[in-house]
Amino acid sequence: MSEVKTSLSESAANLSAYESYHGLTAEAIQRSFLDHLEFTLAKDRFTVTHLDQYLALAYAVRDRLIERWLRTQDTYYRADAKRVYYLSMEFLMGRTLGNAIVNLNLKEECRRALLDLGYRLEDIQETEPDAGLGNGGLGRLAACFLDSMATLALPGYGYGIRYEYGIFNQEIKDGEQVEQPDNWLRYGNPWEIARPEVLYPVHYYGEVVQFPNGNGKIAHKWIKTETVLAMAYDTPIPGYGVQNVNTLRLWSSKASREFDFHHFNEGDYISAVRSKTESETISKVLYPNDNRHSGKELRLKQEYFFVAATLQDIIRRYKKTRKTFDEFPDKVAIQLNDTHPAIAIAELMRIFLDEENIPWEKAWELTQATIAYTNHTVLPEALEKWTVELLGKVLPRHLEIIYDINYHFLRDVRVRYPNNEELVQRVSLVEEPVPGIRPKSIRMANLAIVGSHRVNGVAALHTEILKRDLFRDFALMFPEKFENKTNGITQRRWLACCNPQLASLITEAIGDKWMTDLYEMEKLIPFADDPGFRQAWQKVKQDGKDILIEVVNQTWKHKLRIDKQSLFDCQVKRIHEYKRQLLNLFHAITLYNRLRHQPNLDIVPRTIFFSGKAAPGYRLAKLIIRLINAVADIINHDVVTRDRLRVVFLPNYRVSLAEKIMPGAELSEQISTAGMEASGTGNMKFALNGALTIGTLDGANIEIAEEVGRDNIFIFGLTVEEIAKLKPHYSPWDYFHSDPELNEILNMIGAGYFSPLDKELFHPILFSLLEGGDQYFVLADYRAYVECQERVAQAYLDQDQWTRKSILNTAKMGKFSSDRTIQEYAQSIWRVSPVPVNMVTCEV
Ligand SMILES: *Cc1c(COP(=O)(O)O)cnc(C)c1O
Repeated sequence: MSEVKTSLSESAANLSAYESYHGLTAEAIQRSFLDHLEFTLAKDRFTVTHLDQYLALAYAVRDRLIERWLRTQDTYYRADAKRVYYLSMEFLMGRTLGNAIVNLNLKEECRRALLDLGYRLEDIQETEPDAGLGNGGLGRLAACFLDSMATLALPGYGYGIRYEYGIFNQEIKDGEQVEQPDNWLRYGNPWEIARPEVLYPVHYYGEVVQFPNGNGKIAHKWIKTETVLAMAYDTPIPGYGVQNVNTLRLWSSKASREFDFHHFNEGDYISAVRSKTESETISKVLYPNDNRHSGKELRLKQEYFFVAATLQDIIRRYKKTRKTFDEFPDKVAIQLNDTHPAIAIAELMRIFLDEENIPWEKAWELTQATIAYTNHTVLPEALEKWTVELLGKVLPRHLEIIYDINYHFLRDVRVRYPNNEELVQRVSLVEEPVPGIRPKSIRMANLAIVGSHRVNGVAALHTEILKRDLFRDFALMFPEKFENKTNGITQRRWLACCNPQLASLITEAIGDKWMTDLYEMEKLIPFADDPGFRQAWQKVKQDGKDILIEVVNQTWKHKLRIDKQSLFDCQVKRIHEYKRQLLNLFHAITLYNRLRHQPNLDIVPRTIFFSGKAAPGYRLAKLIIRLINAVADIINHDVVTRDRLRVVFLPNYRVSLAEKIMPGAELSEQISTAGMEASGTGNMKFALNGALTIGTLDGANIEIAEEVGRDNIFIFGLTVEEIAKLKPHYSPWDYFHSDPELNEILNMIGAGYFSPLDKELFHPILFSLLEGGDQYFVLADYRAYVECQERVAQAYLDQDQWTRKSILNTAKMGKFSSDRTIQEYAQSIWRVSPVPVNMVTCEV
């Protein structure tokens, strides 16, 4: 604990209260910081902790957002603006403080205010826990989109769930992943504002009754439900270079009062309290699956929970200014981040039909015109299906409505395509049961497509695959519905915040317009041929590597010595078979074996970094983590090889760790089986920070290659078309037998070389690669990958040329700003325009 100086600067002491809340000078921030320490946190200089320092600074920064936030909401209301609602089960926000400081342009002021008190801004930022309310790319995309919507002055709202426990913390014990609960709210969350008055009931179970509505029609009523309350918590989302501050509204579940009374009347106090805790479990924990559907009842209840609360909120806001729903799609755009919120289609229909008494045709027209759907995967295990049994129990009225939607839809299909019952079966929202194999289910992707006016994939190849394969029938029926929206990342967090040194170097060279127009980076191209600039670039990259070494030293207690000159080769992402961490590991073992067999072999020294979490129920992914750590253990302890080859597993991959890895990375591993990674966004973060990519022709890698040019990227491996051709007769055994280096690796794993105490430990991995048929084509791509890595190593020998390519990668990242992605959504899906906020500057 460092001591707060007793005498803060005279000028800070003399500032007005107004300045303390609003002032953007170092003095005003210091005054605000000290006021919060004393009056919000009740601490003095003898009791102040690191947490107090963080909280005081967070409150001081938050104060500076509040006026803009209130004015933003008022501006949108007065402009009668069309709003965008981004519905997502996940928002992987990471830390907020540093991002808010950058977006408010307050970094130097904060630094000075704190330094004067003896504190370092960087140290204070490290205290903030990550908001880990997501699994990986999908949740992080939602977070980048919020930043871009605010920066583009679009009236956008994020809506999701305030999980009490985010993605688990990963510890590595004896090489194994151990999951620890992420109690991220333990010390309070200074960024959220609780809104106890924004409270909506959400109903489950019960039954549906029909009755004549008096107009000769049948009305439906959903009765005898169990009710849970959704309470809002708001987080401000500041744009960069604008006054707009948008809102992320997350719902927390609360027991309803009626529910309690029901039990109290029976005199059972304990039951009442127990039901209260049960209904509060809905927002308790994030499901830790990436790209995998969990058919659990609680998950379905979570999905409906935030959709039902969100739609009530949207309709309340709409009704403030309108009497009828005729203009609903002109004022409301709803984007579904994957099918997780797709029940919104049935819920909006239910509200229109049962509560607003709108006729079916009109209700359906309004719903379709309002909703759009983003698909994130073609992996079959990730496609959401809910059994009719479960859906009918939890949401009986919604099941009826889905059947009605299907009835209308299939009637139209039969008219347009007579005598094609196979087509009808394929596009039906209902998957018919196969006794003993699969139960009757609702296909949520089909519901999302039918109920939306736009369906988009997240990279050019992915959208093509959707149109050609997964959704072929739909794309032929509704070609105008399908669009591509290649993903992006925000350069504010993924360059300005996480790599301030590189950001400064760039800004010195080309100015700072890249902060809001990433295409400006092209101005760096001539600098790639400037030796002085290259040297400066290389120096900054080396500093990034040194910081990463510091992270390794902290994590592994200085037990691993990293060669700062070695090639920093990074694969950081969720652990999944299709992402092929195994392929990378096999390359590491290949280098290891070459060094063992030829101890004097001259190779480019490498440090291979892995980081990523496995879903707790994904046994093979967890075993892959164990194998990585086992291989690391052997390689790092071998005196013959350890000065030239290191393998490092960095535990607990998360946004704040990614922010430390990106600046130090030199080689970005993007090696998924072609056709399986929808887009990837990690690939963009690396390239923006000057890493070169080794990758397959998959997802956005293809577009990155188009932008940077084939000379500045390392592409290898089977294409989607080649995999499709190989698939029917693929035999991994052929590769096992014909490639001696590959054969040696698999034999070592099989013989227990990396698990001497349990020689069969890794056999399930071998089984999946050989007997299991190697679904992800690891063996088929092995040789091409190893040869490509040889080209990488060769290129690294010429540091000057490597640096040139590094600069060109950053220079060509313009397309991959989420600002560009959001502009495309705004123009062709949402049809919304910017609504800039003008601040009346207040005289003090
Ligand atoms: C960007 C990001 C991802 C997505 O990485 P991919 O390589 O695209 O899978 C996952 N997790 C975190 C923490 C990220 O920041």
